[in-house]
Amino acid sequence: MNAPIAIPTQLVDRFDRHVTYVRLSVTDRCDFRCVYCMGEDMDFLPRSEVLSLEELYAVGRAFVELGVTKIRLTGGEPLVRRNLLWLTNALGRLPGLKELVLTTNGSQLERYAGPLRDAGVRRINVSLDSLDPQRFRELTRTGDLAKVLRGIAAARAAGFERIKLNAVILKGRNDDEISSLAQFAIDRGLDLSFIEEMPLGQIGEHDRAEAYCSSDEVREALERNYTLVPTTESTGGPSRYHRVAGTDTRIGFISPHSHNFCASCNRVRVTTQGRLLLCLGQEHSADLRAVLRGNPDDDVALKQSIIAAMAIKPKGHEFNLGAAPVILRHMSVTGG
Ligand code: SAM
Ligand code: SF4
Repeated sequence: MNAPIAIPTQLVDRFDRHVTYVRLSVTDRCDFRCVYCMGEDMDFLPRSEVLSLEELYAVGRAFVELGVTKIRLTGGEPLVRRNLLWLTNALGRLPGLKELVLTTNGSQLERYAGPLRDAGVRRINVSLDSLDPQRFRELTRTGDLAKVLRGIAAARAAGFERIKLNAVILKGRNDDEISSLAQFAIDRGLDLSFIEEMPLGQIGEHDRAEAYCSSDEVREALERNYTLVPTTESTGGPSRYHRVAGTDTRIGFISPHSHNFCASCNRVRVTTQGRLLLCLGQEHSADLRAVLRGNPDDDVALKQSIIAAMAIKPKGHEFNLGAAPVILRHMSVTGG
């Protein structure tokens, strides 16, 4: 009889980085078309190409059994995926998973905040790039600010441990709202991360190099009105945090260009099609969907391919805003 295969319970790459965080893209679809994320006309994947909820669960479970403690559900817009609550309920019960979190554009949150909280989602990120309805519409192309604000209010009422806002700041479009977004977060006891735009996929509307607003510029704008106290606090992601003195709010900076965070990378992504992406800014990947569909009910094969993929996790990304995008997949497929 063959000896059982010993499967490690930790994921470690060639650079001794421990992978403990997975971002699962549950759909490439979205009810918004944010100008930095998508083109105006998008072709979405046929259903057969997208991982089923059961496949997503199998992937999540395999990662947790391999030592992953945090899963983020993202997309696309995760709340447009039908029956998403089945998945959150199932993942939320996995022993070993310490944090089940979700990133959303907030459009459906009024309806889903309570059920998500009940299903074990402890923290939630809501994207919010503008507090001006007209501008919000322009940046998202379809979004209704009032609906998103109602969603944020519902999330506060649902009692998430922490709610964080995400804002991508673009020069000439919303860089005059940096402090008002901060004040909105402070008034509600929320955290807020500012994200530098990343060159993923072709977009139509602006030149990314011209619109680039560095985290240092955002911080300078904030420091005109607030005292920011650096902290070593982390939420296990790429944000570098500052406390706003005298408030409950933490301001994070996600700075792929100006403060490369690759050396401490602890995460991988699984795209909507089940491609395990080892780096947001590179194409090294493993086809988990093929493994899942070729070996149904065999979680050993799935785990072995996840473990093998650690050997190809690259050292870091090579984003260059001035050049044509090297990475053709949009953030919505990638799982931002
Ligand atoms: N639809 C959800 C949302 O908007 O929050 C989840 C998916 S979205 C792709 C996740 C995050 O990625 C959002 O905060 C969004 O602002 C950010 N994002 C999208 N495209 C980006 C890009 N090209 N560069 C930087 N951040 C981007
Ligand atoms: Fe949709 Fe989120 Fe991309 Fe905006 S950032 S288009 S809300 S997936």
